[in-house]
Amino acid sequence: MREKIYNYMILNIIFKSFAGTLCLFAPLLANAQPGLPPVSPDIEQAVARITKLTPVIKALDAIKASGVSMFEEQVRINEIPAPPFKEQARAEYYLKKIREAGLTDATIDKEGNVVGMRRGTGAGKGPKLVVSAHLDTVFPEGTDVKVREKDGRYYAPGIGDDAAGLATLLTMLQHLNQSGVRTVGDILFVGTVGEEELGDLRGVKALFRDHKDIDGFISLDGVGLGRIVNAATGSHRFLVSFKGPGGHSFSAFGLPSAIHAMGRAVAKIGDLVPPANPKTTFTVGTVRGGTSVNAISGDATIGIDVRSNSHEELVKFVEKVMTAIHEAVADENNRWKARAQITVDIKQVGDRPAGSIPPDAKIVQAARAALAAVGAGTRSMQASSTDSNLPISLGVPAITLSSSGQAGGSHSLGEWYAPVNNTLGVQNILLLSLALSGVDGVTEPVLDKRPPRP
Ligand SMILES: [Zn+2]
Repeated sequence: MREKIYNYMILNIIFKSFAGTLCLFAPLLANAQPGLPPVSPDIEQAVARITKLTPVIKALDAIKASGVSMFEEQVRINEIPAPPFKEQARAEYYLKKIREAGLTDATIDKEGNVVGMRRGTGAGKGPKLVVSAHLDTVFPEGTDVKVREKDGRYYAPGIGDDAAGLATLLTMLQHLNQSGVRTVGDILFVGTVGEEELGDLRGVKALFRDHKDIDGFISLDGVGLGRIVNAATGSHRFLVSFKGPGGHSFSAFGLPSAIHAMGRAVAKIGDLVPPANPKTTFTVGTVRGGTSVNAISGDATIGIDVRSNSHEELVKFVEKVMTAIHEAVADENNRWKARAQITVDIKQVGDRPAGSIPPDAKIVQAARAALAAVGAGTRSMQASSTDSNLPISLGVPAITLSSSGQAGGSHSLGEWYAPVNNTLGVQNILLLSLALSGVDGVTEPVLDKRPPRP
């Protein structure tokens, strides 16, 4: 596989991402974003100064040369299954890799997150920055996660989301440590559990419970360099269980059916119209139930996901979904008028807070300056539902960035990734982390030290 990857990448290297040309582009690109506030000269200068340091130039060059081995690592990570709530094997491997990269102060916390500390020279006076990627995938146990190449695309569930982020983070750490560059602030390297699906951000929630002194947070999630997520799409998720008497399809005919009630509910929910702005969405993502084709079903369960960029709209729309469910149950019971009735049990299994940080927040400005410095620029500022939801809701500066490369089919079995300029994202997160944490004797941290949270 190695040769194939290498040939493919050579053909596709079109960016001039070597350090020598970096600083020339930086001010130009960072400020050339229509509709975005200008990046402050202080932050641009900090990034420019860091970019000119000899050990940083060497690190950026070494990163650029590491595209093949980095992608091989991404494949290895991906081929260790990490279904929701079953991230342990991948976590252990990741812990081993970050220890090998020199983070001796690293462990798996009680929730299952991999957490490794790289101390700064500020002896706790500098800011504490988290850079993270998520260990889990959306795919259930038993999903084939082996990577297969076809026409330059590497297919495997999870390969972009978020094996790419994990490989990017690890590669950054390796080169940061090799460079010997000392930061003023502490950097916590984290592989989180529970980002996807019913994990409900359990990893990042635990991280912020255990560490009251985090001053900034970056998640590397998915693929598409130049995307900055500064707004958190909130979501509420529910498991809705319909229960009934059940019975023989012929001899017990006349009893209400849990599956029929569920079907009515799905149809009613499907007809709801959410506001386009602020964007609000919904889907019934899973259905299961019944025991036999010739039985009136006694149970059926659906999983519902409702999302919005506004907390208010989220709550309003959830209310409509609940009404639809109760109407569906009443309709099914009225249809048969039997003594035995359908009941419904609604359990909330997901609660991701909504919120946003302003587009002129220092962490956003620094991210834009770093993106400009690697020649990528800021392609979009957007809302999404990621690990950053939690810190954003706590008022901690947080953004979600993406890895470089090309990808498609995220959250589907047809997910693919192509390692085109795959090291640009590593260069980007290196420069950004250095700027936010400050380089000892060279720049002040861009990130402010905050009072610890209660
Ligand atoms: Zn993801």
